[in-house]
Amino acid sequence: MTDQIYLDHAATTPIRAEVRAAMEPWLWENYANASSVYRMAQSARSALDRARDSVAACLGATPAEIVFTSGGTESDNAAIKGAAFARRDDGRHLVTTTIEHHAVLHPFEELRERFGFEVTVVPVESNGIVNVDTLTASLRPDSTLVSVMWANNEIGTIQPIEQIAALTRERGITLHVDAVQAAGAVSIDLQNVPVDLLSISAHKFYGPKGVGALYVRRGTPWWPLLTGGGQERNRRAGTENVAGIVGLSCAQAIACQERDSGNARLAALRDRLLHAIERGISGVTLNGDRVKRLPNNLNVCFEGVHGESLLVGLDLDGVSSSSGSACTSGSLEPSHVLLAIGVPARLAQSSLRLTLGRDNTERDVDRTVDLLHRLVSRLRAQSPAPKAVR
Ligand code: PLP
Repeated sequence: MTDQIYLDHAATTPIRAEVRAAMEPWLWENYANASSVYRMAQSARSALDRARDSVAACLGATPAEIVFTSGGTESDNAAIKGAAFARRDDGRHLVTTTIEHHAVLHPFEELRERFGFEVTVVPVESNGIVNVDTLTASLRPDSTLVSVMWANNEIGTIQPIEQIAALTRERGITLHVDAVQAAGAVSIDLQNVPVDLLSISAHKFYGPKGVGALYVRRGTPWWPLLTGGGQERNRRAGTENVAGIVGLSCAQAIACQERDSGNARLAALRDRLLHAIERGISGVTLNGDRVKRLPNNLNVCFEGVHGESLLVGLDLDGVSSSSGSACTSGSLEPSHVLLAIGVPARLAQSSLRLTLGRDNTERDVDRTVDLLHRLVSRLRAQSPAPKAVR
């Protein structure tokens, strides 16, 4: 697989060598349950404490505000259901946006359909950014929870979380932020930004899959999703995934250290890719904002070509990409995010997401552009489908 070019880092990232090395002792040598009393267990407990200190420091939080979870999906569900139920006597109106991940949209749907909450799903602008005035207009005296993602997983757009947090704080509304795509790429300082609940997931920043964290600001009304043992100070029951949590903290610490230099390198590669695509291929549109987007994200529509055909064609030549969010690929439904920013359904089906990572090189970018150029020409020549109209 030496010629493989992996351009799907929004779906997941490979574990870094340093992270794997940090995790290994907790898989083999010390496998103790961190809740037991003997020395081996105390050492696992200390590893958890160190990991919690480090995760908190990277977010501008205190260690007691960090709850380890099984990943982004659990953190989002726990935050949304936990806050909505804990504040149900204050009000039953909840607010989110049209471009959230399904790990956010589905809990809101469930709260509406099964538990009688009212949910307003706020639209975003055509560049994929939430308009704070629109969000403000959606708020009511009985609104208790707002959930807005920091960065989008499909089109990479970065939301004005500082402004949104100031607004929700002023109104006494709990704010949850899904930072699963942002963590590692965007500077998050919760000491200065009054977010109440925030989700992260290790596998998006070169850590292991199946482990994440939920930040719960001190004093936030919130109920735990999982009950059972008293782990995580009774906020998330279940034997702690010591190796995973150590891996999460190690990956996050490196990502924070390398953020500025890594972002500059990724943005340069991303721009090289975009400019070459725009120069060489006709009928291409960029989805999402040109500037306010993650440095590694490109999402483009190729008129008259199915995104799935491009994905398969690229894969046959060793390039891994995505024609939408990984969690919905396999379904031929157009992406809800692209529809939400006003891309017509037919054009939305011609989208391709390319997300770069730390191992990608200029050579990878040039080879991908070359392949895309040939693929798009061939597919357009073959395709009986009428060209999409904007
Ligand atoms: N939120 C966002 C924005 C995501 O991109 C993802 C995963 O793609 C999730 C939540 C779910 O995270 P996990 O895969 O850790 O469950």
